[in-house]
Amino acid sequence: MVNNCANSGCGKPLLYLREGRIFIFDTSDGPSEPGAKRLRRLDHYWLCGACAATMMIVQNSQGTATVLPKPPVVRRAQQIVPIASMLAF
Ligand SMILES: [Zn+2]
Repeated sequence: MVNNCANSGCGKPLLYLREGRIFIFDTSDGPSEPGAKRLRRLDHYWLCGACAATMMIVQNSQGTATVLPKPPVVRRAQQIVPIASMLAF
């Protein structure tokens, strides 16, 4: 389980789950065959409140979790611009 903030520059100990944000990644191995029992593994990471405000954790194609700065998205709905409308001009 998680003990500290995943931001290596922070490392704040996890005391209260209500603070910050938990990230859960499925790191199960390989593709599953029908009927085969798949070993399911979930990795948990936590960012403290201060870090979660500016950072996020993403899983790359190798399955490694990486702490990245959050993109400056405040109002998501207005950020999505259909490609067609950009090509119209
Ligand atoms: Zn932190």
